[in-house]
Amino acid sequence: MPIFKIFRYPHPVLRKKCKKVENVGAWEKKILAQMVETMYAFEGVGLAASQVGIERQMIVIAPEGNPEKELIKLVNPSITLKEGESLMEEGCLSLPEITLKVKRAGRVIVEGIDEEEKPVRIEAENLFAHILQHEIDHLQGKLIIDYVNEKEKKKIAPRLTQMEQDFENSRSISERKKDNIIAR
Ligand code: ZN
Repeated sequence: MPIFKIFRYPHPVLRKKCKKVENVGAWEKKILAQMVETMYAFEGVGLAASQVGIERQMIVIAPEGNPEKELIKLVNPSITLKEGESLMEEGCLSLPEITLKVKRAGRVIVEGIDEEEKPVRIEAENLFAHILQHEIDHLQGKLIIDYVNEKEKKKIAPRLTQMEQDFENSRSISERKKDNIIAR
């Protein structure tokens, strides 16, 4: 199975609000399976559809991220309860080489459906709760860099600038290619 390309900051798709999935059909199942392969290939513990350029409310979580050691494929997830506070270091496949301390709820209940459209209810704490909140944030166009304080912002600014330049360069190459095709 081919894996997806992971979109990196500052690609605009990462800021999009993902649409609800109306029904989980063959296409959605294939996307979820491919998201799992992509997550494993990049050694992530979680992945959201927007990170692979698909604006749908779908996330996957690796067994390593779940205390029950089960792979999770979750459609239309929403947080129905948030309790307490937890501060943990997080990374993101869309923000390589950046880790940030993110303050989130320490305990959450997440509800959604699985790929068979069966209702799913997950109670999570600590790391598992962070991963779920991180991936659900992605579906709302929110990234870990949105949580940083001024001091941390300064620390990561050079890396963000570098990623912004990489993005501009990759865009101008593909635009140049497009011009070439038109010119021919
Ligand atoms: Zn992420």
